[in-house]
Amino acid sequence: MRQTRSLPQRLWPVLCTALLILTCGLPQLASAQQWQAVQGNVLVIELPAADKHLQVRAFGKSWPWKQIDGQHIRSWIGVDLKAKPGNHKLLVRGDAGEQLHQVQVIAGDFRISRIKVEKKMAEFDAATLKRIRADQAAIKGTYAMQVEGNPDISIAAEPTEGIVSTPFGAQRYVNGEPRSPHSGLDIAAPEGTPIITPLAGRVLLAESMYLNGNTVVVGHGNGLVMVYSHMNTLKVKKGDWLEAGARIGEVGMTGRATGPHLHWGVRFNQARINPASLLTAQGNAASNSTQ
Ligand SMILES: [Zn+2]
Repeated sequence: MRQTRSLPQRLWPVLCTALLILTCGLPQLASAQQWQAVQGNVLVIELPAADKHLQVRAFGKSWPWKQIDGQHIRSWIGVDLKAKPGNHKLLVRGDAGEQLHQVQVIAGDFRISRIKVEKKMAEFDAATLKRIRADQAAIKGTYAMQVEGNPDISIAAEPTEGIVSTPFGAQRYVNGEPRSPHSGLDIAAPEGTPIITPLAGRVLLAESMYLNGNTVVVGHGNGLVMVYSHMNTLKVKKGDWLEAGARIGEVGMTGRATGPHLHWGVRFNQARINPASLLTAQGNAASNSTQ
């Protein structure tokens, strides 16, 4: 009698361990995660995945990723300035199936910026308007251009030394009239201050424009494009390859500018990105498991 009772008792710890592995160990591989990102920021995520043919999808687009060890990937996702606050799906699709996660978009706390300029820089005749629209179309055309590049888009320093005069996302009023939100970062610095490319890339555009002044657009691959405006002169030309750290030009006040400054714009897969978020891109990889 004693023996028949003690046999199940000895098996109990083994059964318990097996149950723990089954309930806690295995499902974690496919657990849903949730990340938070403020409008206009680049979100860096890390996930368990070992497929060679992965697709990371969010906001209706595919985002670059790279394998960081045998079992994890890192991916970069651009949250547009006007992405709707709330929850958005993040889908990781691979040979082994699909994982569904979530990105919670937090509304940005954007400032109001008022500038006063000469009438000819605020009210335009038909010919000037035509030129402004052509300038804007030329810049927009570069956002979809293909360039080879590394998916790691975090950068170590801003392209020029100065102080932020207009932050990203600021609601603009020009001579009292509301305009589109500021889609870049303005860095005020003395005329002639060097502007350095933080990443290697191809010059996609180098033109003199009505409002943007001397403008250079550099493509870095994986849909990442940086725009530099109001430079004093054009020092590079379309097609040039720039290594990281190369000089793009110098700070100026060409086009519509109330003082010498660099307008630094970043687009990532067309999303309007706060350039400052690239500086801290590695730091916001924290995630919460929601299972
Ligand atoms: Zn600006």
